[in-house]
Amino acid sequence: MNAQLKPSQTGDFRLLIGGKLVPGASTIDVINPATEQVVAACPRADVAQANEAVAAAKAAFPGWAATPLAERRALLLKLADAIDARKMDLARLLTQEQGKPLNGAIFELMVASGNIRGLAALELPVETVKDTDEAKVVRVRSPLGVVAAITPWNFPVIMMVTKLTPALLAGNTVVVKPAPTTPLTTLKVGELCAEIFPPGVVNVIADANDLGGVLTAHPDVAKIAFTGSTATGRKVMASAAATLKRLTLELGGNDAAIVLDDVNPQEIAPKLFFAAMVNSGQVCLAAKRIFVPESIYDAVCAELAKLAAAAKVGNGLDKGVEFGPLQNRMQFEKVKAIIEDARAQGKIIAGGEPHEGPGFFIRPTIVSGLPDSARLVCEEQFGPVMPVLKYSKLEDAIARANASEYGLGATVWSASPERAYEVAMKLDTGTVWINKHLDLPPDVPYGGTKQSGYGVELGQQGLLEFTQTKIINMAK
Ligand code: ADP
Repeated sequence: MNAQLKPSQTGDFRLLIGGKLVPGASTIDVINPATEQVVAACPRADVAQANEAVAAAKAAFPGWAATPLAERRALLLKLADAIDARKMDLARLLTQEQGKPLNGAIFELMVASGNIRGLAALELPVETVKDTDEAKVVRVRSPLGVVAAITPWNFPVIMMVTKLTPALLAGNTVVVKPAPTTPLTTLKVGELCAEIFPPGVVNVIADANDLGGVLTAHPDVAKIAFTGSTATGRKVMASAAATLKRLTLELGGNDAAIVLDDVNPQEIAPKLFFAAMVNSGQVCLAAKRIFVPESIYDAVCAELAKLAAAAKVGNGLDKGVEFGPLQNRMQFEKVKAIIEDARAQGKIIAGGEPHEGPGFFIRPTIVSGLPDSARLVCEEQFGPVMPVLKYSKLEDAIARANASEYGLGATVWSASPERAYEVAMKLDTGTVWINKHLDLPPDVPYGGTKQSGYGVELGQQGLLEFTQTKIINMAK
């Protein structure tokens, strides 16, 4: 594949339905967010093709469920190897459709294949619940059936394989549907799946934001594994009610970073900056509200402003670029509006200038002196804009951090692990990192409290969410 994938290569992209790579009923242009040029015309499935994909997954289910787990694992490991073998091509494509710097795209593919290997290593043992003179009771884990894996545009490949792997390992079959602005790398991974798995076990369709609802309402879909916004998550949950589908929802966050007064501003600033700005802030678990004690507030703000001013922003395919554009125009406009609201209520100490020319670029922006009612503080910005909030009493910072409908993650930064742990225990979130951020190994589950989600992904607990507990109760 060329570094610049041309629209003339549109024929390279295919849906995967029932083991066949097929064109869509129509096409949808995928836009490079750095140039606003068309990357490719992506095949777009219609409702009939979505139904065909579900029917193919349903037909493949009995055979796949009966395949020994060790064989299912072996095929998943082949997929990890195939992704590694195509890493550079896939990374260039990912940068062009998603916008992230090439190094970030390579990292995403490495995490993806690592997650496949880590998750595929898990077991589903038969457990003895009790064994007495009268009875032996065992618990087995049976697969659910067809899983719909619906993914967002920030980490398309990681999100795909993090759903696909436990679903398949447990014996389910899958229909993957990526976000309409980032379907291309997912379709390429679909092509790799076509060479590895039996027909119908993995199906990949692409849409124009119109087929998610078809999958979530489909009577033959047993489970929905969804990552996206809380607003869409609510629709998914409502739609699942009709047939009582199983759900894993990984939704929005407004993660607090709580900085204690015993840290060195110069040492802490780059870590906070990374926690907020990684992937241009388009991370559900990014640090989105930074609480800093008044004793070091000015010093931390000054360090953050320096880092923001020095950041290299540009086309992710260009050397040395650290931050790409926002992924799509809608998000770009939303983040710009949030910056204007912040400008009116606080002080922009770095970034915040309008961008001239093509591309959805926003430079890393630091805002001080905002009230908690500002949009940048109470909404999920999902962009490279960081509100630094002052506190005087630690208990108040914790209460402010918890005053959110979200509860995905949080970070605590302190020279004292004991003090940090005490704070962590008081934060109402699914994950709290202490003196680090975004450490998400495949054997550690994560999920959100409140309206950040439902269920967990990763780890043994994440795998079990793709199974049904089945009790076999034997008389003696
Ligand atoms: P955004 O973060 O842009 O708001 P969403 O949360 O809406 O995105 O999108 C995440 C995924 O959910 C995408 O694949 C999108 O196409 C899909 N989606 C959108 N609407 C629905 C729906 N009503 N039901 C199921 N999935 C949907």
